[in-house]
Amino acid sequence: MRKAIEDELKQPQPLFIDGKAYVPNHGELIDVVNPATESILCQVHAATENEVNLAVQAARRAFEDSTWKGMNPSAREKILLRIADLLEQNAERLGTIETLNNGKTIREGIGDVEPSADAFRYYAGWTRKIYGETIPVDGGNFVYTLKEPVGVCGQIVPWNYPLLMAAWKVAPALACGCTIVLKPSEWTPLTALELAKITKEAGLPDGVLNVVPGYGSVAGEALSRHMDVDKIAFTGSIRTARLLLKASAESNLKKVSLELGGKSPLLVFDDADIDGAVQAAMAGSFANKGEVCSASTRLLVQSSIKDKLLDKLTSRCEQMKVGDPFDTNNHMGALVSKAQYEKVRSYIEKGKTEGARLITSEAKQNSMPDKGYYLRPAIFDEVKSHMSIAQEEIFGPVLSVLEFADEAAAIQIANGTSYGLVSAIFTKDISRAHRLAKEIKAGVVWINRWNGFDSAAPFGGNKQSGWGRELGKNALDLYTTDKCVWVNI
Ligand code: NAD
Repeated sequence: MRKAIEDELKQPQPLFIDGKAYVPNHGELIDVVNPATESILCQVHAATENEVNLAVQAARRAFEDSTWKGMNPSAREKILLRIADLLEQNAERLGTIETLNNGKTIREGIGDVEPSADAFRYYAGWTRKIYGETIPVDGGNFVYTLKEPVGVCGQIVPWNYPLLMAAWKVAPALACGCTIVLKPSEWTPLTALELAKITKEAGLPDGVLNVVPGYGSVAGEALSRHMDVDKIAFTGSIRTARLLLKASAESNLKKVSLELGGKSPLLVFDDADIDGAVQAAMAGSFANKGEVCSASTRLLVQSSIKDKLLDKLTSRCEQMKVGDPFDTNNHMGALVSKAQYEKVRSYIEKGKTEGARLITSEAKQNSMPDKGYYLRPAIFDEVKSHMSIAQEEIFGPVLSVLEFADEAAAIQIANGTSYGLVSAIFTKDISRAHRLAKEIKAGVVWINRWNGFDSAAPFGGNKQSGWGRELGKNALDLYTTDKCVWVNI
């Protein structure tokens, strides 16, 4: 499978516009790198402003001619269900492409497909359940609301979960009757292009989903400033989010929803199930190489159990094998790019100079090839809240351990960053768990677990972690607008 895919990728990959492969005539290509080998995996045609215009025109035509929003809801449901089925049938192919392109382990690459398919299956169910309400008002009036699709949506996604982040955006937008121009990250454009082909095979009308790989500063910028785009849905960094808001303000005031980063706390109290907490911290910090917006990057531990917990955690961490993502003996693959690798390394150096204590080994493991952006997971003890490794999102396998004495101190540290994405509390005291769930400023609170995700449960952040919620019925609000109709009776 892998060899066949690598052979297929020898041709530069086209964009997907108006239901067809599209090759721009400017000839500009993006080199897509395999981070596990540092070699060029393939080239992808780069969308410039011209191609973004073509894609938006196709999406506008498909929106206005009503082939999608006017299709019977049960027919739209069937298409979304077919997309889910096709994703699952192509799981090995999609997972292989994701691993080649992103560096995550093949287990993780294939593992991303099931929740992506589930998003389509979940939102398929909504196609027949999106409706307004009747409203009792004074006077002789009959008043009702219509839930209408917001229009042409620009969707801009990052490189850490290329297929899954696209699915979280495309599935609800389609369920609501919107049309889409999707811009994947220039580092990881391949599975978004695969998704486009799958939607075509499933029967999605031409122009409803267009995919334009390209640089953020070119294709992303053109999309965010386009006068005929009604909405931008974004997952990525705060820096880009600010540019998108500015672009909206300076163009047509398009709606913007934002899923941004995090510096999420995992709180462990002295009555907690320590093994459960260690398991959660390992998965929360090092899954997907720590390139996870909802990573548990701050471990807050009550002083009396810190030594015991850290002993268990470091011994688990030292056993993690880093290396070739296609070797199923390895637990962690390669970081996504040279730039990301260097960024994470610079934070490790910063942690040391700021006075935190690195308690895991940095030595190269035998499993780590000479080429590739491989890094062992790192744990810092004696981290203080003011340090940059306690405040800034690193987006790599680096865990900062902070100590607290009591509940009040734990809340203060937990809430002491500019982020508010997710959080977790490990305790057997059910009253404390619920008390803290209210106190913590985050969009998600997990009690005695980490990483609870389900297509039905809303996900998103507070503070500088974003605006709006993806997944669940909440995501329908991002892609619909209410029209209020008054009838004088
Ligand atoms: P990024 O902001 O650099 O890039 C994200 C996307 O934005 C890419 O497609 C990129 O090409 C595009 N982009 C860049 N500049 C642009 C511009 N000027 N105009 C329009 N688009 C532009 O982020 P990244 O480094 O790719 O991703 C990492 C960030 O994403 C982290 O901060 C992480 O926490 C966040 N993230 C959040 C979630 C979530 O659900 N909250 C999920 C995954 C990643």
